[in-house]
Amino acid sequence: MSYLMNNYSRLPVKFVKGEGVYLYDDKGRKYLDLIAGVGVNSLGHAPPEVVKIISSQAKELIHVSNLFENPWQEELAQKLVKEFHTSGKVFFCNSGTESVEAALKLARKYWRDKGKNKYKFVAFERSFHGRTYGSLSATGQPKLHQGFEPMLPGFSYAKLNDIDSVYKLVDEETAGIILEVIQGEGGVNPAEEEFLAKLQELCKEKELLLIIDEVQTGIGRTGEFYAYKHFSFLEPDIITLAKGLGSGVPIGATLAREEVAESFTPGSHGSTFGGNPLVCKVASYVVDKVKDLLPRVRSVGEYFKKRLEELNLGKVKGRGLMLGIELKEECKGYVLKALEEGLVINCTAGNVIRFLPPLILEKEHVDEAVEKLKRVFK
Ligand SMILES: *Cc1c(COP(=O)(O)O)cnc(C)c1O
Repeated sequence: MSYLMNNYSRLPVKFVKGEGVYLYDDKGRKYLDLIAGVGVNSLGHAPPEVVKIISSQAKELIHVSNLFENPWQEELAQKLVKEFHTSGKVFFCNSGTESVEAALKLARKYWRDKGKNKYKFVAFERSFHGRTYGSLSATGQPKLHQGFEPMLPGFSYAKLNDIDSVYKLVDEETAGIILEVIQGEGGVNPAEEEFLAKLQELCKEKELLLIIDEVQTGIGRTGEFYAYKHFSFLEPDIITLAKGLGSGVPIGATLAREEVAESFTPGSHGSTFGGNPLVCKVASYVVDKVKDLLPRVRSVGEYFKKRLEELNLGKVKGRGLMLGIELKEECKGYVLKALEEGLVINCTAGNVIRFLPPLILEKEHVDEAVEKLKRVFK
């Protein structure tokens, strides 16, 4: 009997230790980790420098709340804004869903401050933005809404890569559009360049805020620091971050163009834990390190994609180290088989094998993974 609520179906393995791209279970078996805590452990397991930073910062100050000045947030925010396409400001929280909540609240407040009744959001089918009510309302997956209705008013869902479907949903009351440039949980579905260009145009034409959810794609995952930067014409007003930002410590962030950011004023939104010295200090290091890793993420990612295509298992999708193989059948069984082969992979959207390895992955690890995958799919 378990004292835990039953909301996860857990795989039958107990990991007790990790090092780099490898995990070890309670029997001492070694596994190549290609999911990295769902895109979280960007620098791999137990990166020595992160261990050192956690330990030294814990000795100084772990948490002090947002009642006081916080130079650790300032330092990290400056680094995140430096990678943004324009000047901006940052709000810190603890998770992806919170970063999306902040984005939605900020967008509504921005239009309210301008005296406009623009409160609706157009999101996309198969998107994933989180599990709290705002972000869940933005999530275009009916099965995740089931039993929790009603959702927040004002959300509708267009089809990714179908600009007409977006036009149809926009009206005078639309505050903004929210999307992932590569849908993660929804099955590693990339938005096409031409579609994104039209979407950006639409936002300019109809005065809509463009919110890009970079919780999964951000912080180097796709080979650019933010995935939207693969498209030089994209100028999001707000982006959301979490997952890989802390390489394992819980931190989320919402970045907004300066003029939009000004709608948050003292008391309008907050978080008790958000951006404490410990997590900011770690994330600050992660950001520097990931910037150095970007060329490698691109080259190892391309190599990985090519090797996966050679396996001929199905369509290979994604970019950098965010890749998926769309199978013609359910993929759950293969995840178990992979575990038996010492390989940790993930199945999302029912039939997509998803890879979100640590960004420190090297070509030799790809070769090892491919050999193991051959045995799994034999
Ligand atoms: C994982 C994810 C979230 C939610 O993050 P949590 O930390 O689980 O709340 C939001 N958006 C995207 C794109 C995600 O992949």
